[in-house]
Amino acid sequence: MKMTIRYNSTTYNIDSNTGIDISIPVNFNENLNPKFYDTSYPQRQYYKEGNREYNIKKGAGCNVPMITMNIHCSGTHTETANHIINDAPMISDIDNLNFIPSQLISVNPEINSNEKYHADSDNEDRVITKNQLEKLINPNTFTESIIIRTNPNDIDKKIKNYNSHHHPYLSNEAIEYLKEIKVKHIVIDTPSIDKYNDGGKLGNHKIFFTNNDNSTNHNTVTELVFIPNECIDGKYFLCIGVPNFKLDAAPSKPIIYKVN
Ligand SMILES: [Zn+2]
Repeated sequence: MKMTIRYNSTTYNIDSNTGIDISIPVNFNENLNPKFYDTSYPQRQYYKEGNREYNIKKGAGCNVPMITMNIHCSGTHTETANHIINDAPMISDIDNLNFIPSQLISVNPEINSNEKYHADSDNEDRVITKNQLEKLINPNTFTESIIIRTNPNDIDKKIKNYNSHHHPYLSNEAIEYLKEIKVKHIVIDTPSIDKYNDGGKLGNHKIFFTNNDNSTNHNTVTELVFIPNECIDGKYFLCIGVPNFKLDAAPSKPIIYKVN
């Protein structure tokens, strides 16, 4: 289906069949998922009533699976301010997560960055800096969402254990810059926009999810995506794809549509 989107007095044509899914599939009962802190993996069992198990393989008329998963720690998910602040908007409170004007950028995180971070940095820390973002982002258009691909972009991001391989994170200045240019949605292929262990402060999350008057906002952060190399940097429309969960986060299936 050909679609026409009018945004900032320009008309864009996209084809609804060309969307690219940048989520990581959720495997159940198989040790095939990224891991951050929690090393368990998503589990599925089938609803049981007396002797009957609602599983077609066991002779039932339909499958009725029940799942257990750690939303933040085992795959692609989208979170809100409620992740760090009580009474802040939940996933179910966020509207208009479709066809968000976005820019996809690829970053080579810096070692020994001199930008500020709210916790001590270690020698091998890799940091995404404001200085880099300023060079990669056009601040005038398509800034509602920034989709960040970190290099190297290995396929093992889909199954990586981030407890032994710490991910790159953003400097505080980088997050402040994103807020300054009015980014509302960050999408990133790491498990967090903060350092692996920042002492529980989640400082970048706090900066991004609060306004200057300290009130909370309707921003979102989507973590643990995988952006295939075939998606080139540039402008996209993004549909985040979340269920209506009354929670701080939900598994998500972001789809991006290239703008020509
Ligand atoms: Zn999270």
